Amino acid sequence: MQYHCPDSFKDAVALAAEAQGVTRFLAGGTDVLVQLRSDIVTPDVLIDIKKIEGADEIRQDENGWTIGAAVCGARMNEHSALKAQWPGLVEAMDLIGSTQIQGRATLVGNLCNGSPAADSVPAMIAAGVRVTVVGPEGERQIAVEDIPTGPGKTSLKKGEIVSHVHIPTRRAGGGDAYLRFIPRTEMDIAVVGCGINLQLDGDVISDARICLGAVAPTAVLVADGASAIVGTSLDDGTMDALAAAASAACNPIDDKRGTIAFRTHVAGVLARRSARIAYDRARASQ
Ligand SMILES: Cc1cc2nc3c(=O)[nH]c(=O)nc-3n(C[C@H](O)[C@H](O)[C@H](O)COP(=O)(O)OP(=O)(O)OC[C@H]3O[C@@H](n4cnc5c(N)ncnc54)[C@H](O)[C@@H]3O)c2cc1C
Repeated sequence: MQYHCPDSFKDAVALAAEAQGVTRFLAGGTDVLVQLRSDIVTPDVLIDIKKIEGADEIRQDENGWTIGAAVCGARMNEHSALKAQWPGLVEAMDLIGSTQIQGRATLVGNLCNGSPAADSVPAMIAAGVRVTVVGPEGERQIAVEDIPTGPGKTSLKKGEIVSHVHIPTRRAGGGDAYLRFIPRTEMDIAVVGCGINLQLDGDVISDARICLGAVAPTAVLVADGASAIVGTSLDDGTMDALAAAASAACNPIDDKRGTIAFRTHVAGVLARRSARIAYDRARASQ
């Protein structure tokens, strides 16, 4: 196995573009090293991104937040201003693994590993997060929902790397939340996850994005759920319509961790509960 530790995204791209065989980027390594040790994936080329200039930065400007590809969950959780603006997204990241995992695991690794149950992905999609992809053809920004294409698969082409995550500026009257169901209290992957981001105008929801995880091969944006709650103040009838839309958007698998019927039902329950939390946070931020 070849191990490289470039100090720029340009060099990382060049190495990845020229690499022969199975290539992996090493961010926190909490997926890559587990897969390697379990003989699931043995990379021929491992490109460590932790020493790349700018990969460990958390920056804020008038457009929002820029998080480098090597920033771990613990650093996000300790960033009080980021957490105050995007508590749902930070909580989704914070649910990943244990204290030890939090010291390594990254948002970008969670996204590019391609797990349908990745916790940060529905929260990022609900928040309207975009990523910068750098590759042999140059640089582009794309929406998070355009990265995963199926279990373990992404739309990234040979030589392409995600350099940064871009989280929009939180406006007054906005709030987000992420909830998941797991069979244990921690250290398990989501049977269902739900991220919701709301914008209020007074008490009325003026904009909403709802995204479910672990109920289909990739995270699912629930457009009908957003339509059901926009223009309302989340009364009981609205909550019923939201839950029905969330359940209807599911296309889950049946496995030992949850049946199709269970996952479909829980999606509705989590949509109600996360909508309520996001709504209360949005009201508090006005
Ligand atoms: C004990 C344990 C508990 C866990 N619990 C959870 C959990 O509760 N919820 C959950 O969602 N996940 C969980 N995970 C999975 C894992 O921790 C997350 O997916 C983590 O966010 C991956 O980030 P990483 O930086 O470690 O990625 P890595 O392992 O370094 O990389 C993962 C994948 O992303 C690719 N990649 C990394 N960086 C880039 C980049 N910049 N550009 C393009 N591709 C890139 C790599 O090539 C690789 O395929 C757990 C793992 C363990 C070991």
